[in-house]
Formats: sequence, structure tokens, C-alpha cells
Amino acid sequence: MEKLLYKPNIGEYKLLMAYPAIEEFALASLGYMWLYKIADQTEGINAERISTDNIKSAKDAGAIAFSMSFDFDFMGVFEILEKLNLPFYAKMRDDSMPLIFAGGPVITTNPEPYKAFFDFMIIGDGEECFRKVLEILKNNDKPEALELLKNIEGVYIPNNPVKKATVELNEIIYTPILSDKSYFKDTFIIEVARGCMNRCAFCTASYTNLPFRANDYDKIIDAIDLGLENTDKIALLGAQISAHPKFNEIMDYIRAKIEAGRKIELGISSLRTDSVTPRMVQTLVLGGQKHSTIAIEAASERLRRFINKNLKEEQILNAIKIARENGLKGLKIYSMIGIPTETEEDIQEFLRLGKCIKEENKGFNIEFSFSTFVPKPQTPLQWCKREDTKSLEKKQKFLEKELAKLGFQSKFSSIKWDYWQTVLSRGDETLSPFLIEVYKKGGKIGAYRSALKELNLNISKFINGFDIEEPLPWDFIENYPPKHLLVNEYKRLLKKAKKNFSQEARS
Ligand code: SF4
Repeated sequence: MEKLLYKPNIGEYKLLMAYPAIEEFALASLGYMWLYKIADQTEGINAERISTDNIKSAKDAGAIAFSMSFDFDFMGVFEILEKLNLPFYAKMRDDSMPLIFAGGPVITTNPEPYKAFFDFMIIGDGEECFRKVLEILKNNDKPEALELLKNIEGVYIPNNPVKKATVELNEIIYTPILSDKSYFKDTFIIEVARGCMNRCAFCTASYTNLPFRANDYDKIIDAIDLGLENTDKIALLGAQISAHPKFNEIMDYIRAKIEAGRKIELGISSLRTDSVTPRMVQTLVLGGQKHSTIAIEAASERLRRFINKNLKEEQILNAIKIARENGLKGLKIYSMIGIPTETEEDIQEFLRLGKCIKEENKGFNIEFSFSTFVPKPQTPLQWCKREDTKSLEKKQKFLEKELAKLGFQSKFSSIKWDYWQTVLSRGDETLSPFLIEVYKKGGKIGAYRSALKELNLNISKFINGFDIEEPLPWDFIENYPPKHLLVNEYKRLLKKAKKNFSQEARS
């Protein structure tokens, strides 16, 4: 059952809001659902949601808007276009067919692999730009609309310049439709803050969302109240929610409600390792949370310094202690392998850290979760080489075995899928036929290998990285921070790494 928390509008202009996966995930995607709400409330627009398992006719549709959050979402985009009988390439669609556009984190980070498929894309924060786009779409035919869209900040019409859209967070974003069919069943999600001040050198959540912005406290409280009028499940969202200047007050507000007898299931995706407090954990436990995650990114302090994750080992041990002593049943420790400059000693550090953790936290359920480093556009590590698959597999096997000996469970992301994620993340327009071929072949790992062979495509530069002087596929985006700041940061990190290596060699 769905419960709308806003008043929709009825309009003439049919807009299909497409989510490139199943509806369960669409309903759980805060950004997509918020934009759907904007469209559904816009005068003159008749917005309809579609997903891979919920297709409606494109007949009479003026436009189709896709939201792309994950690198492999292109599969869902093609599936939907195929089910709607629409050509994949924009140049094959005539003026009688709907305008097809996309936005979301994947498009903001690097739209180039997808530019052949969309008439235009939205780069950056969607909410204000999307409203302007809707005004143009509903009042103009396809060719006129495309001409007018060129003047909107954040709209990228392939091969034209674009400036990333950044909003001031005047409106607070929350789940506009509660549904028991959502992946987060009946959960009211509230965006507390956007971006992260920490600027870890690999992190798109921080770099593509600069500057860090916190939502107004009163608006957050109003949103919590609205949520609680309609459900018991509240989740707070943001890459760095604990950096909100009034985070403790927000938590205390929820805690006071629970202590006064209000049943609340509270969810926070992960805890900031350097700012975990007993009160915070107690509130989460009162809100029914049993497990949480801390991200350490690397076990070695040298490597953490290199990626700008300035986290001390004492802070990691302290966070675990607080989690254990204040009622959590277990903790997941998230980290990466394959970070540039990583050495065998850095890998050995996981075992040393693991032993310390075990000694201090007997009986507490701790699991390690690893992914492999995927260099991402728009970050200071965007130029780096992706580590060789065989060498990563060796590290994975070693850690799996040795951590098990210490009594830890460990989980690993798929090295092969992370490899293809690197290709898609840093790819350019030459990937378009490849993506179609992968889709036609079913989209499994074998499909990627076979499509590559068939098209004889050279993807080595997307894996081996870029020279700092050479132009990057996404350079045309007028961005904040500008490229020269990323270059400076990358050089600073490399210099720091060299200094650390030589200091360690001397000691
Ligand atoms: S603390 Fe987390 S969200 Fe913030 S920059 Fe680092 S990895 Fe990204």
C-alpha cells in the first residue's frame, strides 16, 4: 500500500519518471522519489513512475526522465527503452518520440559513456534545475525545448558546455510516498546534510557534493514530526550527518520521544568513526538498531593519511569500544584494498589491527567488509591506475584466510565487477556501442569480456589511468572544485606519501 504525503496535481503533459531497476528499489531511492514528487506537484504535468518491472505505455509521453545512481544502471535504462519500443541512440529518435534525459550521481560524475543515449542530462543537484526543465518541457515542442534548455544551469546537451548545478538546500528532502513495497519498507528517510567536509581523496560523495551543506534544524524537526505522524520507521541520511551543527540535538529530540513512550525504529546507515559517542549509540539502540558500520578505509595509518582519511587507530578502537559498551550487538568495519601506494606491510596491518580489536572486544561480533579501490572522476585520485585483478585476488585470499584465523568473518566485493565499474566510471563516448552489446549479451561478467572482444575496443586507459597533463573525458564540466585544485591535491598527497615512505625507511 502506498501513502502519499503530499497533494498531487493533474496535468496534460505526460512525463514518465523512470527508475532503471525494480520498483522496490525505486521506492527506496530518496532522490528519485523526491523528483517524482516535484513533477507530480507541478501544474500542467502528469507524472507517472515506471521501473523495469512496472512499465507503462510511452504513448503521448512528452518526455522520459531516468535517474542513474549506480554504474551498472545502464542495463535498466536499455531494458526500459526496449520495453517501450524506443531506440537506444538519441539520434535514432525523431521528433514524434519523447525527449529522453537523465540525472543522478552517475551522470553528475561522468556523463560521457551515456551521452549518445540521452537528449540531455542534468549535472549536479537536481531539485531546482529539474523544476526549470519541467517548465520548459510542458510549454514547448521537442526542438524548441532543447534550444531553451541550453540556458539552464546544470543542463548538459551533449557537446555543449555545462556548469554543475549546486543548490543551497532551501527545501528538506524526505520520503514523499511511504510504501510497504519499498526495499526500506514504510521508512521515512530524511536528508540531514549533503556532502562531507572530510574530502577523502577517493570519495565522490564528498567531491561531487561540495560544499558540505546542512539542512535547517527546524525543518529537520518538522520533517521528523511529519514522518512520525505516518510511520514508526525514521532514517537519517547524509554522507556525514554527525557533522550537522545540531546533530546531538536532533538525536536528543528523537530520544526524548522514545523515552516518552513513542515507538520509533531509528536507522542511520553508518557511524562516523571519529565522532561516535555513547549517547549517540544509546539512542540508536533505543531506536531498535542492533548493528552498525564504521568505515576505516585502510588499516594502516600511513595509507589513511595518504587518502586524507585522518583517522587515528585510537579513534577506531574507541569507536568499537563505545559501540560494544552501549548496547550494539555487532559492528561492520568497512575498508578497501588496492589503494594507490598500498604495500604488503599495509595489508599486514589488517592482521595487527585485527588482533588489537579481538583482544579488547572479546565476544563482540565484528565483521570486516572490503571493496577494491575504484578510481572515480572528480576526485584527487581520478588519475590513478586500478590495481591488477590477480594481485587483488591474492590480497583477498590472504586476508580472508588470515582474518578467519583470528576469528573474523570477512566479506569482499567482487573484484571483477569492481574492474568493470572502473571502466564505466572513467569511460568516454567510445563505450556506447560496448554498453549496448553488453546489454544484448545479458549483462553478466562474461558479456563484458565477450563484447570487448567482439568490438575490439581498447579500454586500457580507463584501467591504467590518465597522465596528469592529458585531458579527461569529463573535463568540460564547469565544476567545483575546479580541476587545478584537484591537481594540487593529488600532487600534495603524492608528496606526502613519498615523505612517509622515506621516513619509515629511515626508522
Ligand atoms: S568521511 Fe566518508 S563521506 Fe566523508 S569524504 Fe570520507 S569517505 Fe567520503
